[in-house]
Amino acid sequence: MTLPLVYHPEYSFPFPEQHRFPMAKFGLLAGYLREQGLLTPENTFRPGRCRQHWLNQTHCPAYLERFETNTLSPTEQRRMNLPWSEGLRKRTLLAPSGTLLTAQLALHYGVACHLAGGTHHAHYDYASGFCILNDLAIAARVLLRQARVGRVLIFDCDVHQGDGTAALLSDEPHAFTCSIHCEKNFPFQKQRSDLDVGLPSGMADDDYLEVVQRTLSRLIAEQAPDIVLYDAGVDVFADDPLGHLKITEAGVRARDRLVLAELMGRGIPVATVIGGGYDDDRQRLARRHAIVIEEAAALHAERSVLPA
Ligand SMILES: [Zn+2]
Repeated sequence: MTLPLVYHPEYSFPFPEQHRFPMAKFGLLAGYLREQGLLTPENTFRPGRCRQHWLNQTHCPAYLERFETNTLSPTEQRRMNLPWSEGLRKRTLLAPSGTLLTAQLALHYGVACHLAGGTHHAHYDYASGFCILNDLAIAARVLLRQARVGRVLIFDCDVHQGDGTAALLSDEPHAFTCSIHCEKNFPFQKQRSDLDVGLPSGMADDDYLEVVQRTLSRLIAEQAPDIVLYDAGVDVFADDPLGHLKITEAGVRARDRLVLAELMGRGIPVATVIGGGYDDDRQRLARRHAIVIEEAAALHAERSVLPA
């Protein structure tokens, strides 16, 4: 089996081209991976609409109702920072089950990648920073409630703090939230993750990779997770307009490779989500989001040919 990938063609939908949020990136990422031969009908898994009781385990039912019926208040809409549409409603309800499906595939195959996910600013009863439903918290809770795993580690390397995930899982002793982010960046009012690593603006590859390696090794030893949900946000990239770090594309690749190699080498299932990434050049952005999937595919292939 080649690397399992999770994708739905409705992740991208007609959306204002000039909007800061690059809604086209999911479809462009899928297109690029198809060109590379990494996304084929054989290894593509398509999620369905997230079940209501899964959503209700993590989010406020009244908020879910307001979002679905397009009756969010003007303040709530401003915080969401995305124009409501039927397309937005649909993709929002698909993506959390995509992350859950990716986690389930990772438990079976060792590694799996979602071509979306990482909406870590979504809170219990409000959207924030382009994030409406918190796929990471939803997936962690479902896995734990179904007793599929005993301990979940959320390893969030998006450049912004995973504030929603931290708050939503603060009362969940079997889910450990770790966020490695740029300290002087959105959200300016931080929440408390189980472990926060706030980085100084302008940090470059060598220092960054050392922090990621050290933090991951420590958490594996201390937490012994049964699965890791890895948010491979590429907004750490130097030219990302919302980033403030100075990580090169080679640095992003080295980060993803070290995280995946460390986990896969220890036999810890890892599910990746693409997280944040911004660029006026949407094709270039899609190629940047492909890095984690390329590295996962390479490591998965290497492991598949090893003698048992
Ligand atoms: Zn981000």
